[in-house]
Amino acid sequence: MATTTIKEVTNYLETIAPKSYQESYDNCGLLTGDPIWEVKGILVTLDCIESIVDEAIATKCNLIVAHHPILFRGLKKLNGQNYVERTIIKAIKNDIAIYAIHTNLDNVSTGVNKKIADKIGLINVSVLQPKTGTLMKLTTFIPIDKKEEVVKALHSAGAGNIGNYQNCSFQIVGEGTFQPNEKASPTIGRKGKLEKVQEVRVEILFATNLKSKILTALKETHPYEEVAYYLHSLENENQGVGAGMIGELEKPMELLPFLNGLKSIMNTSCIRYTSPTGSKIKRVAICGGAGSFLLPQAIAAKADIFISADFKYHEFFDADGKIVVADIGHYESEQYTKDLLSEVLNEKFTTFATTFSKTNTNPISYI
Ligand SMILES: [Zn+2]
Repeated sequence: MATTTIKEVTNYLETIAPKSYQESYDNCGLLTGDPIWEVKGILVTLDCIESIVDEAIATKCNLIVAHHPILFRGLKKLNGQNYVERTIIKAIKNDIAIYAIHTNLDNVSTGVNKKIADKIGLINVSVLQPKTGTLMKLTTFIPIDKKEEVVKALHSAGAGNIGNYQNCSFQIVGEGTFQPNEKASPTIGRKGKLEKVQEVRVEILFATNLKSKILTALKETHPYEEVAYYLHSLENENQGVGAGMIGELEKPMELLPFLNGLKSIMNTSCIRYTSPTGSKIKRVAICGGAGSFLLPQAIAAKADIFISADFKYHEFFDADGKIVVADIGHYESEQYTKDLLSEVLNEKFTTFATTFSKTNTNPISYI
């Protein structure tokens, strides 16, 4: 039977949530274990703590896929003096790989927040704070009779996707000039002779994480010995990548019935929320985990409520009668991330089991 390596699993997860989409403070990726190990089974969890490593040992899983990275701040000693060190020591002793998929999974439009939006039943969803610095533009010059082939290869490699539009490009015909030297082996023209060729200037956008794939497609299909191209990093916002999400309820609801429904959807006995604004709830902003930094964006997007977690006392005042802030708890807000990860892994890999942990890792209880 075909075997699967840890690297194959993590590469696949990174096609869904590229590591380059993680925030600068984060520590996503393979934290323990060897990428070439064969995967025996995957345990999916929100937090990777010691009891989760125990569960992985008991269920014969040698890969733990966790949302939160257990190694976050860096370790200078490994003496088992705290839960982080003990977790890492136990994982290493038992040949268990730990992989973290954190803010990169928060920032993709099919990630943590989409799962929450689906649970709440939001429609017309979009990213609340689109990310900059994740797009590039390729400009290249292709002889006219090869243009279709090269552009098709670039599109197949993932270039030219903008929002709901695929196969986007800009093209203009012009004249290219070049003079091959004695060492050249030109596709068109002769050594030492100035050539003038009808070429198409093609401009095409792509996500930065696809850079090497796009350049490979360009070089494999472009007929010239020396391919002329420019790459530009763009400051444009990437509408499909970023923090938080906003959407709408199909029918506006009064605040209290909405919050009661939310309590049952998110399996929580306690929601901390600010004063009603007097408006019904129609536009709903969400951010799984600590999301108070997004409150200004939620207000600017005219959300009636912002559902998130880890709000501090003084941050609740910032609702300021413009919006309702509802803090549903960090664990509660991200609990469906386990389902999301199990679904994507089970869809792709069938030769080993992907299960999600039965251990409740929430460190907080309510009475
Ligand atoms: Zn979190």
